[in-house]
Amino acid sequence: MSALTCDLLIVGAGPAGMSAAIEARAAGLSVLVADEGETPGGQIYRNASHSPLADSNVLGEDYAAGRGLIGRFDQSGAKHLARCVVWQIAFEGAQAIAMLSRGGRPEDGAGTLEVEARAVLIATGAQERPWPVRGWTLPGVLGVGAAQTLVKSAGLAPSRDAVLVGSGPLLWLFASQLLKAGRSVQAIVDTTPRDAWRAALPHVLPALRGADYLLKGLRMMRAVQRAGIPIHRGASALSIEGDDRVQRVSFVDRRGAAHSLDTSLVLLHQGVIPSTQLPRSLGCEHEWDEQSACWRPHTDANGRSSVDKVWIAGDGAGIGGAQAAAHAGTLAALDIAKALGALDASTHEARSQHARRALNRHLAVRPLLDALYTPPAALRRPADDVTVCRCEEVDAGEIRRIAALGCQGPNQMKAFSRCGMGPCQGRWCGTTVGELIAEVQSRRVDEIGYYRIRAPIKPVTVEQLAESIPLDEDFARGEFPS
Ligand SMILES: Cc1cc2nc3c(=O)[nH]c(=O)nc-3n(C[C@H](O)[C@H](O)[C@H](O)COP(=O)(O)OP(=O)(O)OC[C@H]3O[C@@H](n4cnc5c(N)ncnc54)[C@H](O)[C@@H]3O)c2cc1C
Repeated sequence: MSALTCDLLIVGAGPAGMSAAIEARAAGLSVLVADEGETPGGQIYRNASHSPLADSNVLGEDYAAGRGLIGRFDQSGAKHLARCVVWQIAFEGAQAIAMLSRGGRPEDGAGTLEVEARAVLIATGAQERPWPVRGWTLPGVLGVGAAQTLVKSAGLAPSRDAVLVGSGPLLWLFASQLLKAGRSVQAIVDTTPRDAWRAALPHVLPALRGADYLLKGLRMMRAVQRAGIPIHRGASALSIEGDDRVQRVSFVDRRGAAHSLDTSLVLLHQGVIPSTQLPRSLGCEHEWDEQSACWRPHTDANGRSSVDKVWIAGDGAGIGGAQAAAHAGTLAALDIAKALGALDASTHEARSQHARRALNRHLAVRPLLDALYTPPAALRRPADDVTVCRCEEVDAGEIRRIAALGCQGPNQMKAFSRCGMGPCQGRWCGTTVGELIAEVQSRRVDEIGYYRIRAPIKPVTVEQLAESIPLDEDFARGEFPS
């Protein structure tokens, strides 16, 4: 196992991680940036510098704009560890020790890596909000974000009859990207509740500071409408049906009319939520964000978490979008540089001002988006026959039955039902399980809590685990005669 040392380990090479690396390098810190991806960019700028598409302009201006940031990151002097999954971080005294698995061929350095760092910035971004609806486990159903990842990483886009179902900006963005790529979309089934605009109204004026976002959103929606794609608004009673793969999607529209669309591909979306596994495994405090209906780590304005030497920035600290993530990364890096003695207080303050103002401007639109697009409880808490834990095949009815017996929370639920014990380690059921227990016991979700997350936070092989175990002086690895 090889070992590396640095001042700052950044996990995630999205806008937050790359911006943080640039700023930390400018302050003179040695920086390692580990990311699972082949190239830097994160979710939004995935492969922006090496796109498999003949014309990556179909993904829009924002995607193309990522190349500038990637270029500055490449020039920053930070060491980028590509194809590296960080699966454990622990502290030995003041030093953070991270375990990474590097993919690829052994001759290219694949295997286990250990990184020792004086500080850690978690910039692991967001994941799509799991949306358990009837039939969501059928082959042919995937997330809009997952489908977009296929386009960005492999140049594969749906070729026919896809139905996009759900709510939120990414749904409209992906529909408009497919149209630009010359692909068709059969229909959009929009689950945004009819009266969501009422809740959004008080947030309209403050959101005007981010008017460019609103205009961009309206333009996207208009492009989809102009293409003549049927849009069914205010949809409810959704059901995805098929024998051994999806064949149709049924729903009721806002006028109460029932619809059934034949399709072989359903793309679901209900927004994105912070990826919290890594900060949770480190013991960082989290809070339930009622407006966005998701967990987020507790951080201060510079991304400092409740655990010493650990900062969190970008969508992983709360959904704000790519621009906000980049400024949050800058602020965290400046704070880390000050904490490690590389910047004095006045330089830190002077350099932070611009990023702080820009961050606030980019966040101005969030309360409006949350009020419009956070799915209501009825969509987040599925009917009894719907699978919630996909890995262990546990349905909502079983979770409700166990909750009604007085189960104390998600960790006890895990012991009783096995939900959260599969390879996704709770990423796809954790939030729903907490919400269902809260519903049955008439308690608040923040009282119920979340799974206790332990390393390895992502699946690793036994060989990789074994490689990470230090040997004492009496034993050494290597070839020996049989
Ligand atoms: C599937 C998906 C698609 C999206 N597409 C768009 C889009 O097209 N346009 C848009 O405006 N917004 C999009 N978003 C929202 C977008 O992700 C952000 O607003 C923005 O990218 C956040 O930047 P970030 O730096 O916080 O995180 P990200 O850009 O998500 O970067 C986080 C990085 O951390 C890496 N990572 C996570 N865990 C580990 C680990 N344990 N070890 C190593 N690496 C790890 C990930 O591979 C990723 O590269 C998308 C979100 C998702 C979930």
